[in-house]
Amino acid sequence: MQGNGSSTLNVAIIGAGPAGYYTAEALTTADECVHVDIIDRLPTPFGLIRAGVAPDHQSIKNVSRRYEATNCRSNVRFVGNLSLGRDITLAELGTLYDAVVLATGAAKDRPLGIEGEDLPGVIGSGPFVGWYNSHPDYKDLNPDLQVASVAVIGNGNVAVDVARVLAKTAEEMAGSDLASHAARPIHGSAIRDIHILGRRGPLEASFTPKELGELNILDNCVALVDPAQLPDESLDETLSGAAKKNMAILRAMAKNKPGDKPVRLHLMFYVRPMAVLGEERVCGLRLEKTRVEDGACVGTGETEVLPVGLVVPCIGYRTSPIADVPYNQRYGCFENEGGKIRDGLYCVGWAKRGPSGTIGTNKPDGSEVADRILAEIRPKGTKGRAGLEEIVAERGLHIVTFQDWKKIEAAEVAAASGPAPRQKFADVAEMVRLAES
Ligand SMILES: Cc1cc2nc3c(=O)[nH]c(=O)nc-3n(C[C@H](O)[C@H](O)[C@H](O)COP(=O)(O)OP(=O)(O)OC[C@H]3O[C@@H](n4cnc5c(N)ncnc54)[C@H](O)[C@@H]3O)c2cc1C
Repeated sequence: MQGNGSSTLNVAIIGAGPAGYYTAEALTTADECVHVDIIDRLPTPFGLIRAGVAPDHQSIKNVSRRYEATNCRSNVRFVGNLSLGRDITLAELGTLYDAVVLATGAAKDRPLGIEGEDLPGVIGSGPFVGWYNSHPDYKDLNPDLQVASVAVIGNGNVAVDVARVLAKTAEEMAGSDLASHAARPIHGSAIRDIHILGRRGPLEASFTPKELGELNILDNCVALVDPAQLPDESLDETLSGAAKKNMAILRAMAKNKPGDKPVRLHLMFYVRPMAVLGEERVCGLRLEKTRVEDGACVGTGETEVLPVGLVVPCIGYRTSPIADVPYNQRYGCFENEGGKIRDGLYCVGWAKRGPSGTIGTNKPDGSEVADRILAEIRPKGTKGRAGLEEIVAERGLHIVTFQDWKKIEAAEVAAASGPAPRQKFADVAEMVRLAES
């Protein structure tokens, strides 16, 4: 089937993460006259599956096999190392394709909004997680881990991931794909105390039992909870699901002793950061104690200083704005109605709904936007991928195809040692050279 035939619906999806792939899958399953180009600024596909999901959670990354199967369809193409904004404009894509879907995720950290948050030593979870996961943007981050105490702000699974990756030993991470540039500083760090800080209480925390439970079985690190911060045990009977499981884990942690293991992980509830302290770099966090009223966090006015040399806020993300695309400041995503931004322009995944939900949440999102496109858009005889190739050739761009990516992947697997599944490359030029070799 020709990509520029008048019966072909040409769709460009910007972003090769879960949302982009689920949309491509839904579009091409429903109608084989749809041609999809999945464009990503990186030479590697799969978005946060590669650069966000924790390196020691390999089984979660297996979902990428489903995306590979989508990419093996003749009417789906991966176009890596092509950035919307840097290499091509939205207006250009709008003339080449019948519909454009923004699946660009939400890579920017939500700011803490407190004094001192720009001090060296405050590193948002976006860069920090990207660094230990070999994201090319953050390979040179080089955080100073020769500090005794760290604050990880937030009570979601990203905070738990960051704390666990910092706490695990080299042996515990042997089967992971932790970035090689991060392994030495992490495993040679001076960190002895890791604090996970939550504004509200244990019942309001959003971490899941599996992730929380992993904190209580670390080789070198003991998880500690102040029993006074846990609700009366009589309440446990009234709990169900994740809340009940979390409470059982927290009660077990409350029985641990600080001296049980060399490193301590403190789960601190009912505190909110008021200021990051320090002159040249961070040396502490001023915290205000809080209480919860009707589910909301209320300050008590009582403050304390937590001495820390590194602060990693894990408090959510925002989509990067794109010129001429309306933006919803409140939710940090594109303004849209059921995935539609305007005629011919759609969004999906975190770019559509903000940074919430699991990988699987992006699947119904992808189906919804695919259904809308198929119902609303008719082929207009656009050039599609042939037109994109002309622009790529004119501008001398080095795009990476799916076959190229498979070469990069094979080299990563070959470079791995021991039980590690791969040793990831983090340098774009190196990956492009490999792809072209
Ligand atoms: C640290 C972390 C850990 C997580 N762990 C889990 C987990 O264990 N289990 C789970 O279910 N969920 C997890 N999630 C959530 C899950 O990763 C998201 O639900 C999912 O990745 C969102 O998919 P997306 O496609 O919208 O965005 P992304 O996965 O972020 O994909 C967006 C893609 O767009 C590309 N892009 C951005 N801008 C441009 C541009 N201008 N031009 C071209 N391409 C561009 C990016 O390079 C990226 O590949 C985690 C999230 C984070 C942040």
